[in-house]
Amino acid sequence: MDDRTHVVIVGAGFAGLDCARALAGAPIDVTVIDRNNFNTFQPLLYQVATSGLAASDVSYPVRGLFHDAPNVAFRQGTVHGVDWDTRTLLLHGQDPMPFDRLVVAAGAVTNYFGVEGAERHAFPLYGLTDAIALRNHVLRQFEATEAHPELVDEGALTFVVVGGGPTGVETAGALTELFDMVLTKDFPRLDIALARVVLVEMSDTVLGPFSARARHYAAHQLRQRGISLRLAERVVRVDGTGVELASGERIATRTLVWAAGVRANPLAADLGLPQVGGGRIPVGPDLRVEGHDGVFAVGDVAAIGAGGSDDLLPQLAPVAKQSGTYVGRLLRDEVEEPGVARTRPFRYRDKGTMATIGRRAAVADLPLRLRLTGTPAWVTWLFLHLMFLVGFRNRITVFVNWAWSYLTYDRGPRLIVDGDDGAHRSGDADGHDDGG
Ligand SMILES: Cc1cc2nc3c(=O)[nH]c(=O)nc-3n(C[C@H](O)[C@H](O)[C@H](O)COP(=O)(O)OP(=O)(O)OC[C@H]3O[C@@H](n4cnc5c(N)ncnc54)[C@H](O)[C@@H]3O)c2cc1C
Repeated sequence: MDDRTHVVIVGAGFAGLDCARALAGAPIDVTVIDRNNFNTFQPLLYQVATSGLAASDVSYPVRGLFHDAPNVAFRQGTVHGVDWDTRTLLLHGQDPMPFDRLVVAAGAVTNYFGVEGAERHAFPLYGLTDAIALRNHVLRQFEATEAHPELVDEGALTFVVVGGGPTGVETAGALTELFDMVLTKDFPRLDIALARVVLVEMSDTVLGPFSARARHYAAHQLRQRGISLRLAERVVRVDGTGVELASGERIATRTLVWAAGVRANPLAADLGLPQVGGGRIPVGPDLRVEGHDGVFAVGDVAAIGAGGSDDLLPQLAPVAKQSGTYVGRLLRDEVEEPGVARTRPFRYRDKGTMATIGRRAAVADLPLRLRLTGTPAWVTWLFLHLMFLVGFRNRITVFVNWAWSYLTYDRGPRLIVDGDDGAHRSGDADGHDDGG
């Protein structure tokens, strides 16, 4: 064993991968640990759930990313604790992993906010298996209704999405497109007009953090596409036959898509690290965890100050990528230029936010107060998502898929691939990836 510094990164999401990329080729040993052997591009999961893309289009094997970086190793495993005395991470069913520097990049998990029945009955959209389970379930409702039309009265074709943020808006929009453009042809004996999407949002607007122009445009587009908006409304109870809203209204449905929020990965607690709101790990200006020498937190799991105020940076992909890169470079400098103190704190460069509602309908709030809606925003959204996808092959297949769907009004994998109904609703650990 040589005396090179060993950096262990927990999590191969946006933050962990960009941290490892910044360390590639440095005189440092790096091990990336993830419970899955692949990276998932979460912003496009809703397209897997709505048969727009295949699971393999939005995921990429981690080992394939570091062929040219012999100093970066990958280990598939689940971290469940740490021994701070010996500085070793504890992994399920494997030998402990020693580290000199630790980067916690374990992301977030679905937050059900204690809503009764939600964890059991709602469909989260956080990992690849969630997206596949939702796709299976949605398609199964149409198959079942064609065989038993009376199921419509039980809400089989009513799809409730909770959460009016980008994920909820994008999912609701994509579901209606799937129904109106594709399933109407797949199920000629079914009256597709009976299929409806209800979007429930707690505040009085969708896309809360966006500009007023983007919010109004999105609400208008959603309504125009037949989506029923329930604003200033909350889901308070869920069971196998429907959801109950705070107003007392009950909606018969078999499908509640949970896009209402996240909290930090509980690994923060398992490692005994400090936590603030939403379970996030507080970090200093250079993303170190106070009181833990050589330990950093990046991405969704970290509570990163927005600078100059008490606000925290949002749990978004660009924050994850930039914070991961920052820590990678910092660790590299530590080894390559020992004794030269790095004083520049982490500074987030906000490149704007976007959401798409459907074909040629999107919103983009960009720097310099550039506000785009409609086709220009949609094209920007398509282009940037293609750019940020992991893996060249995925960019090509996604581009071809999107071009095909645009030109033919057709969709990709409308496959029901599990033998039951929604048995694999949460977590991603087993990776039931059919690639379909
Ligand atoms: C459905 C959805 C849509 C989104 N859309 C957008 C969008 O349009 N734009 C945007 O900017 N952001 C979006 N986001 C947020 C964005 O995806 C996250 O901010 C980003 O993925 C955070 O990156 P991360 O590296 O911190 O965490 P993640 O990408 O979640 O990666 C964490 C990794 O840690 C691994 N892991 C967790 N626990 C363990 C453990 N105990 N042991 C080993 N490995 C572990 C996980 O398997 C995972 O690979 C979306 C998120 C979701 C869920």
